[in-house]
Amino acid sequence: MAQIINFQDLLSIIGEEKDADGSYDFGKMIRKFQASNYEKSGLTHKQFLNKYLPKEIKEEVIKSALITKNLKCDIATSSSNVVMKKLKKNHRNFITIKIDPIGWQQCCYQNSYNTCMYDENYGICKGYQLTVCPCGSVCCLEPHFCNTRTIDGETRYYDFTKDYHKEEYRLFLPIENITDEDETPNSIQFLLTPTIVYGKDKCKCAIDWL
Ligand SMILES: [Zn+2]
Repeated sequence: MAQIINFQDLLSIIGEEKDADGSYDFGKMIRKFQASNYEKSGLTHKQFLNKYLPKEIKEEVIKSALITKNLKCDIATSSSNVVMKKLKKNHRNFITIKIDPIGWQQCCYQNSYNTCMYDENYGICKGYQLTVCPCGSVCCLEPHFCNTRTIDGETRYYDFTKDYHKEEYRLFLPIENITDEDETPNSIQFLLTPTIVYGKDKCKCAIDWL
């Protein structure tokens, strides 16, 4: 049975965390409380991400990497070659994040969540990874998670998920910036929503888009 604790007990376990305006930072307090269940002594951030990624997920990643290798896939879209005017207006406000590839590829949710467990100063951020085809016409927006930290009142973005094609930078659209989305599905369910793709009709690349 789950143990129910009251607010005063919570404070005595994790201490107070307040925002700059003096109100309680419940997000950070909850992350600290959850993080207290993880063993992290002596582990680097990379070792921690590896240790707490379930074995079944690792197996899936390895399987899918092998399938791709056997298909000899070319890179169809990447974070290079973005042509601003070919992007929908509300997709131009992306953030370029240098990837620190210490977490397993394709595991953005687990890497981001576990990063919060490793260091509760990090928050988790839901959005889309933007890639385009070589001519810049085909735009793909894939559900993605990364991390944030608030430093001097400013939000900074971090990405610890190794890119599938070893790209060094990720173009990220936080979901708040996508104004024509009616729905903002929650957490991991969001990863199952389809990739948004447009511009195939204008593509000049020799790629047979399905
Ligand atoms: Zn193209």
